[in-house]
Order: sequence, then structure tokens, then C-alpha cells
Amino acid sequence: AKEEGKGTYVVYDKSMHTPFNERMNIEKHLRSAMNNNEFELHYQPQVDIKTGLISGFEALIRWNSPVLGFVSPLSFIKIAEDSRLIIYIGEWVLREACSFMRSIHDRTGLLHKISVNISIIQLLQEDFVEMVLESLEDSGLEPSCLELEITESIFMESFENTVSKLEFLKSRGIRIALDDFGTGYSSLSYLQHLPISTLKMDKIFIDSLADDAYSQTFVQTIIVLGHKMGLEVVAEGVEDVSQLAFLNESDCDKVQGYLVSKPVPQRGVWELLEHQNFY
Ligand code: C2E
Ligand code: CA
Ligand code: CA
Ligand code: CA
Repeated sequence: AKEEGKGTYVVYDKSMHTPFNERMNIEKHLRSAMNNNEFELHYQPQVDIKTGLISGFEALIRWNSPVLGFVSPLSFIKIAEDSRLIIYIGEWVLREACSFMRSIHDRTGLLHKISVNISIIQLLQEDFVEMVLESLEDSGLEPSCLELEITESIFMESFENTVSKLEFLKSRGIRIALDDFGTGYSSLSYLQHLPISTLKMDKIFIDSLADDAYSQTFVQTIIVLGHKMGLEVVAEGVEDVSQLAFLNESDCDKVQGYLVSKPVPQRGVWELLEHQNFY
């Protein structure tokens, strides 16, 4: 399926390679997708490397268009950003993810976290902070159970403004993760000016662990540095046990990837949580 195998390690933007009329066509259908309930969230577990237990999930959007079929977020998120539709789509994602996580808390009594991808376009909205607080309040989810995933692209747009919004949200107990870490333009010294709680090491480094001494050193250095700064370190795109073993020896906190599970729909989340109760 188109869904699989398009790793996060695609550093360039896939939509740059989407021809103009295809972009127009996607944008046209995106406009009605929201009202027609064509979006769904899938959830990928994050596992605590020491205990082997699920600590939370990342929400990932899925779009099944009756006309276009399944469209990968790698193709439509950029188009949703350029057309500003991401403001509405992103709010729907946040609300849906928070209320689903609240229903898990109610049923399991365990405080799993939910990580939600946030576009820079959303962050630049004047009412972004209010929108997040309202989504939390309406869902009844604990602020400490919500993590917002941002990328290094925030370095390119009104940095002060976005950082102060993130600082405020963090002061309310919401967690902030720096996604795709290592692939962007930021220098390490910027890290200390960002109100983040979590570093997500990009899949590209995990992929090359097996045959690249540089990646091994990079990963180990990031883990040590992250811990020195009081951050949690998550490895993305973990696909095999040798990667897991290396990350465990290197004292990484959490892993996410096909080795544990692909992103699954709501029903799959319940199954994963049930299965986990067996050990
Ligand atoms: P991301 O935030 O880096 O998400 C991780 C991507 O890697 C997901 O792709 C996930 O399915 C995939 N992945 C996870 N583990 C593995 C693995 O072990 N191997 C491989 N090959 N892939 C793995 P997905 O769901 O196609 O999403 C792609 C990107 O689209 C995301 O990258 C994120 O940047 C964006 N995206 C997805 N959902 C949303 C959303 O709700 N809002 C926004 N703004 N962006 C989203
Ligand atoms: Ca990515
Ligand atoms: Ca992410
Ligand atoms: Ca990522």
C-alpha cells in the first residue's frame, strides 16, 4: 500500500514532486474532506524501553478520499498548509486525539500520553494557545498527558512569538517534543532556548545504526546531551531488534516504530493495550 514504506527519513518534501494539477486536485478534494468525515486518526504506540510497556501513542492522520483513494499525509499535509486548511484539519486532529485518549484513561485508569503533530501554520495562529487549552478542557484530558510535536521549521518563522506560546503551554503542564531531530537546520545551542520536554531522533539515524559508525556516535551523543538537559529521548522508526538493543544499551528512553507496531486505528489501540496486560 502507498501508506507503508514512505519513511520519515524523506528529508525533502515529497509534495515538491507533485505536479501542479495534481496539487490543485488534492486541494479541491481536501476542502470537502472535513465536512464529509473522510479523515481518521491512526495511533502508533511509544514504548518505555526499560519496562517494555506502552507509555503513549502518536496520532497520525489518514485520509481516505472517495475520489482519490488513500492519500498519504506526506502528499497532502504540505498542500493543507499552503491552503491554510491545516488550521481546521489540525484542530480536528487535536480534539479527536484528546478525546480518544481521555476515553482510554476512563477505561484503563492508566495515564497514557498522546502526541499530536502541530504544523507551524497552526502555531502562528493568534488563537493557537486558546485553541489548545480549549481542546484539553473540552476533552477532560490531563495537560501532562498531551504532547505537541513540533519540527525545527519553527526556527524559520517568527521564532520569539512561537517560543513564547510554547513556553506558556509548557507552564500549563503540556509537553513539547522536537520532532525529526537532527534533520533540520538548528544548531545544538538553540536547544537550550526551546521549552521542550522531548527529543525525537529521526528515523534516518536509526536506519543507519547498523552500518554507520557516525550514526552510532550521533545517537549516543544526542541521548547523553538530551539527558543532561533534562529531556526525554525517543527513537523513531525502530524496525529491528538490533536497533532496539543498541538503543537500550545507550540508555534511550523510548522507542517507536514498526518493531513494536505500525500505526493502528482505535480498535487496534484497545487490542494493543489488552495484549500488554498479559505481561
Ligand atoms: P512524522 O511525524 O515523523 O511521523 C512518523 C511517520 O513515520 C509516520 O508516517 C509513521 O507511520 C512512520 N513510521 C513510524 N514507524 C516507522 C517505521 O518503523 N518504519 C517506517 N518506514 N515508517 C515508520 P505517516 O503516518 O505517513 O506520516 C508522515 C508525516 O506526515 C508525519 O511524519 C508528519 O510529519 C505528517 N503528519 C501525519 N499526521 C499529521 C497530523 O495530524 N498533523 C500534521 N501537521 N502532520 C501530520
Ligand atoms: Ca518526519
Ligand atoms: Ca511526529
Ligand atoms: Ca518524526
